Amino acid sequence: MLLSSATHNAKKTFALIIALFALLLIAVFYAWQALLTAEQEQARARLQLESNSLAKQIESRFQQQATTLVRMAQRWEFQHGKPDLWQSDAKRLLRDFENFQAIEWLDADYHMRWIEPLAGNEAAANFAYPKAHPNYPLLVKAQATGQPQLSNSFKLIQGGQGLAYYVPIYRDGETKTQFDGFLLGIFRVEVLMADLLRDLQANRLSIELKELGQTLINRPTTDQIANSWRVTSPVMLGENRNFVLVVHPTQHLMNNTSTRLPLIVMLSGTLTALLLCCSLYLALLGARRNTILRKTNHQLQAEVVRRQTIEQSLKRTQARTKLIIDMTDHSHDALFIIGLEPQELVYLNRTCWQSLGYSEEELRKLISTAPQKIMPDASTWIGAVKSLINNQGNAIFQQHVVNREGKSTPLEISVRHLQRMGRDYLICVGRNNSEQLDIADRLKRLSNQDGLTGLYNRRYFDKTLQGEWRRLRRDKLALGLLMLDVDHFKDFNDRLGHQAGDDALQRLARALTGCLTREGDSVCRYGGEEFAVILPGADLKQCLQAAERIHESVASMGLPHPQTSNPSGLLSVSIGAASKQPAPEWRPHDLIKLADAALYRAKEQGRNRTCSADENTAL
Ligand code: GH3
Ligand code: MG
Ligand code: MG
Repeated sequence: MLLSSATHNAKKTFALIIALFALLLIAVFYAWQALLTAEQEQARARLQLESNSLAKQIESRFQQQATTLVRMAQRWEFQHGKPDLWQSDAKRLLRDFENFQAIEWLDADYHMRWIEPLAGNEAAANFAYPKAHPNYPLLVKAQATGQPQLSNSFKLIQGGQGLAYYVPIYRDGETKTQFDGFLLGIFRVEVLMADLLRDLQANRLSIELKELGQTLINRPTTDQIANSWRVTSPVMLGENRNFVLVVHPTQHLMNNTSTRLPLIVMLSGTLTALLLCCSLYLALLGARRNTILRKTNHQLQAEVVRRQTIEQSLKRTQARTKLIIDMTDHSHDALFIIGLEPQELVYLNRTCWQSLGYSEEELRKLISTAPQKIMPDASTWIGAVKSLINNQGNAIFQQHVVNREGKSTPLEISVRHLQRMGRDYLICVGRNNSEQLDIADRLKRLSNQDGLTGLYNRRYFDKTLQGEWRRLRRDKLALGLLMLDVDHFKDFNDRLGHQAGDDALQRLARALTGCLTREGDSVCRYGGEEFAVILPGADLKQCLQAAERIHESVASMGLPHPQTSNPSGLLSVSIGAASKQPAPEWRPHDLIKLADAALYRAKEQGRNRTCSADENTAL
């Protein structure tokens, strides 16, 4: 977005610079044109000056020649009627001024009278100006005004173009001035004009003399600039204002009047515009680069700040991690993390290896090579732990670990399953819970123990009898049971006191415990002064043997009994013995009933004896 905007702006700026360059070029072009025009105006003004000057020179030259004729006319006073005198005067004038074709006298009736030279001008002899002659009005005007008049060019009778200069002549009469006609100078146009322009050709001007718009004479130069502007100056010859001098510009003039300034202005202007636009473009490029640099700097600064923040965060995380590791290392619990797939021990704290008597490296090596040396059922446990991933994710396992000396310690391991970045981890916290286990064991024992005698209680008896019944039914073995009852114990209590009764019961309990010979045999306080002995796997005979050992042991205690009805005078017990192989139709309770019935018979038959259960006794 930023890039496309920058590109768009760059294109826009470039277009603006190009437009500016074009405007500057147009301005330079107009300046160039203005300078050229100024130079042209200067050339025109100079040419106009030269043209005007030339016109004045032409007028002046003509006037010189005209004046000679006027002076001759002033001498008419002495010449009229004296043709020879006039003729010699005319000849002298013709000699001095070769431009004259002829000098003639017209009388007052406009008739040609005298002609000098006659040779070549015979055709004009006796010519009388008719009123229709184009110069006739001039004659009238000259006569009326007394001012000489120059005719327009006309076709000479002698051939060629000519100009006639009519000078009125007078002779003083007695009363008034006598008009005697005209002294007429005939100029040949070509000759006159050639003479008038003779010296002017050196000016290298391209000139043209026109009479009433018609070219009389044309003197172009080789370097005339064709189809260009031109200047004109009116030329008044005598009183005739019908002549115009046209001057055309020449290359020579233009070279003299033109300078290199327009070219220099155009080139320097173009170059300046180019340099200005290039400078502008470079400046803009620089500014743009500066902007980009500034942006880049900002981004870099932001990146530096971001990295500093990350670095600080990393440092905090490292400090936190170190703190956690320190804390976990100082924890009494063993903390270890297992990564799965591939299975590896990712982390273990100091407690793990210190409590087992290894260094960290030793423990790690042992776990990877022979984990069963640390945890005997390690592979089973790992399998159970892995199943967590598919189940609830948390579990507590009771395991045993073996230290370097081979001592086994119970370890309660709390395992939590975590998944991070697609990998499964097991976070395990192990705690030596031997004390808790002992307490639990003690509690369990207490719950099964009789408070007074320390024997198993009735609850334990019921549970164990039930369990053994099921076990022996599977093993198809007999279950033996002895039910005991202290003889005349009420009397004992009554005579010796309840405390003595308790003591007697405690001594009896120890005696009974001492009579047990096989593992699995157990003696329980059934209630009050009644006891039960469970003899798993014992048949009736073995039951009776056990009962016999009990009688002997009780007797050997020698506890005196105050009851006179007791013949031995010692504390004694009566025993009912029963043994049955558990069958589907039998229940443990039936065995108790059998033993109870036997006990009842033992009481009946005089006490301090054992009766076995009668097989025929109805259950
Ligand atoms: P028999 O020979 O018929 O069994 O007579 P007996 O007196 O033992 O029978 P009985 O069941 O009538 O009396 C049981 C007596 O046991 C009653 C009670 O005072 C005594 N006894 C039961 N439990 C305890 C006990 O925990 N401590 C003491 N000191 N006496 C107990
Ligand atoms: Mg009793
Ligand atoms: Mg009793």
